[in-house]
Amino acid sequence: MSTQAKPRPVIGIPCSSYPDSWFTPANGNAVSYLRVVEAVGGIPALIHQTRDAEVLAAHYARCDALLLAGGEDVGPAHYGAAPHPRLGPTNPLQDENEIALVRRALADAKPVLAICRGVQLLNVALGGSLIQDLPSERPDGLNHSRSTDQRDMSFLAHPVALAEDSWLAERLGARELLVNSLHHQAIERLAAGLRVVGRAPDGVIEAVEGTGPGFVLGVQCHPEELWERADPRWAGVFAAFVALAAKA
Ligand code: MN
Repeated sequence: MSTQAKPRPVIGIPCSSYPDSWFTPANGNAVSYLRVVEAVGGIPALIHQTRDAEVLAAHYARCDALLLAGGEDVGPAHYGAAPHPRLGPTNPLQDENEIALVRRALADAKPVLAICRGVQLLNVALGGSLIQDLPSERPDGLNHSRSTDQRDMSFLAHPVALAEDSWLAERLGARELLVNSLHHQAIERLAAGLRVVGRAPDGVIEAVEGTGPGFVLGVQCHPEELWERADPRWAGVFAAFVALAAKA
């Protein structure tokens, strides 16, 4: 038996793009995702946006798990809807790359952690749909942009009730928790292969888990902004995800 230490798992993080400048567009992602993956023992690996399927496949092959990050709105054509007037900016190539990556990860039972835009993308990739703009489509609901309004990503904006039998409730050791909230979209029709495990008081879906063989967790909040100070229980969620990636 080998006594060699197991290599740290590689967590693939698809990039957002930042084109709104006169100079060359950039691919990247918020450092908070990279820092938390490192802190709990993973190797974060940014996956740049590409039209070359072979390059995307090579990125995918070296990853033990995927972390789908927050970002821009998912193109509504992917769920058969016309753009709502309040739809935000979209990124067709990022959508295409992430849909391909997450479908492969689910088929191969590679662990997936999907955050904010990530959980929306996950739902769409599996055949679900989105509420395109909560303030105009659910005007009686909560303000899900409270942390944005506060200019504080770790601002705890609203409670979430978790399903008692969920992986997330067990890992957090809680049935109810406060989360940050920086989203104007949310899951509408849930995709097959997912189940709702967390809701805000207004009914908005805040957490989902997969029903298939691989680990799949999606959250509408931003735990990468909470684990250090506002709610350290989230560090345990990231640690468990990376530990599962090491086994996968
Ligand atoms: Mn919310």
